Amino acid sequence: IDGIDTQTIIDEVDEDIHLLIPTHHQKGIHETLQVENDNDDDFGTKRYVENYESDDLTDSSTLENSVSLKEITQIQSLSFGDIGSVSHIDHLLSVYPEHYQNLPTINVTPSSPQFQENKKEFAMDILGLDLKAPGTPYKEFVLAFSWAVYIFEQYLGVRQYRKLREPNPPKSLQDIEEIREKFHKTQEYGLDKAKFGFVSGLFGQVQSTWIIVWDVLPWLWNLSGEWLTYAGYGTDYEITQSLIFTVTITTMLYFISLPLSLYYTFVIEERHGFNKMTLGLFVMDTVKGFLITGVIGLPIIALGLQIIKWSGDNFYFYVWVFMIIFNFILLTIYPTLIQPLFNKVTPLPEGELREQIEALAARIKFPLKKLHVIDGSKRSGHSNAYFYGFFKNKQIVIYDTLIEQANNEEILAVVGHELGHWSLNHSVKVLTIYQIHNLFLFFVFSQFISNTVLYRSFGFETQPTLIGFILFQFIYAPIENVVAFLMNILSRKHEFEADAFAKKLGYGKQLRTGLIKIQIKNLGNINNDAWYSAYHFSHPPLPERLNALEKMD
Ligand SMILES: [Zn+2]
Repeated sequence: IDGIDTQTIIDEVDEDIHLLIPTHHQKGIHETLQVENDNDDDFGTKRYVENYESDDLTDSSTLENSVSLKEITQIQSLSFGDIGSVSHIDHLLSVYPEHYQNLPTINVTPSSPQFQENKKEFAMDILGLDLKAPGTPYKEFVLAFSWAVYIFEQYLGVRQYRKLREPNPPKSLQDIEEIREKFHKTQEYGLDKAKFGFVSGLFGQVQSTWIIVWDVLPWLWNLSGEWLTYAGYGTDYEITQSLIFTVTITTMLYFISLPLSLYYTFVIEERHGFNKMTLGLFVMDTVKGFLITGVIGLPIIALGLQIIKWSGDNFYFYVWVFMIIFNFILLTIYPTLIQPLFNKVTPLPEGELREQIEALAARIKFPLKKLHVIDGSKRSGHSNAYFYGFFKNKQIVIYDTLIEQANNEEILAVVGHELGHWSLNHSVKVLTIYQIHNLFLFFVFSQFISNTVLYRSFGFETQPTLIGFILFQFIYAPIENVVAFLMNILSRKHEFEADAFAKKLGYGKQLRTGLIKIQIKNLGNINNDAWYSAYHFSHPPLPERLNALEKMD
């Protein structure tokens, strides 16, 4: 707003007017008011310019931050960080009516080209929706969407449940003897997991509804602020408060869900012979998990928030780069610093299997630096194999359970499948897609970070960055769901391609028997609902995989 002559406004309403200066508590979004004042102490008019910056104002919600128009002869310029400030004023009016309701309202239609330019630049209308309109029902939207997803997923669960109660395996697998023998066991395990899924799903849905409807997040945020005050710090230590908040909510949610995870491990997995954990190991895992998450996670959150403070409006780019670097560091230190805390990883002993795997790697020029066995059997009877590492420094890791369950030829076929993922650049492709998605996510977040309506909708009176990110993820959930679904489709495509690769290496038959063995030893669901597997599965169901292996000839 440029060049408004305040006297005409005062004349018109015939009383003094206070100009409210709303502020955000974020750096990088400054609101400045430049005014020309009459200074009565001097003869004549002495002009000076006052700058009010959001950093100088501690609480925007009181009249102390207002300026009387009588003291101002002309507003030189009044600029806001973004258009959202207009709705911010509307909010102040609705939240603090006692302060503002008796003030006269004047509508000024700014017409300067600069204003129009800013409006174009900052107002982000998606599909014609004004995302910063006061009263936008963000909370209601999040609740409605999460219940819709919940109901849809329960419907899929019921469809899958029906398949798990069928007495016979799919037709294409009926002449495989091992499957006929063990089919009922896989069905029982699937049914137990499905029942558990219904209970834990309902529990999770009720919990998130409770958190949103009863404003648990603002309550915890204010509680963290109180603790901070006890410790002698003010709530302007936003990052410290964010860390306290993170620890509090993580611990709270962990203990709330503890009975369910205990039941899953020590009742369901136990009943089907998979659980190898003792209660002592479970507790140790938990303690270690918390410590590592804290040691790595908290500094990352603090640094991320600091970067947002430093970098202003374009923070999304810097945070994105930061997260990429962090991911690389994490992947680098994981095998040497983190994994040994949980598992023993030892070199695969010299012998036939080792020679065969090395020969296979050499044949397709896989830069195999390390070939390891991991003691997966310490916790569970489930089996697996994977490869790992950057560039020319790769390692293959095989679960001891896989070595126990399959013969050498079948293990080679599984390794061949893993090498297929490498040769076809699957992990690079997936990683690239995730990074592009992250950039998009952070960019959209940057459009919401100062959206007062969003914070208000969830019961927050201030706008802490970490909270903004959490709330943003709530409203981003629909896109996240679609992305997860598409990534499952891509992952299943990659699995077929890796199977085909192993077959081309000459391991078609061994992969077939290996997959059947692994499926049966793991009691993986053999009889799946088409909708359920399309939505949830990252790997194609066994009949489809075997079918594809056969067809390739
Ligand atoms: Zn695979």
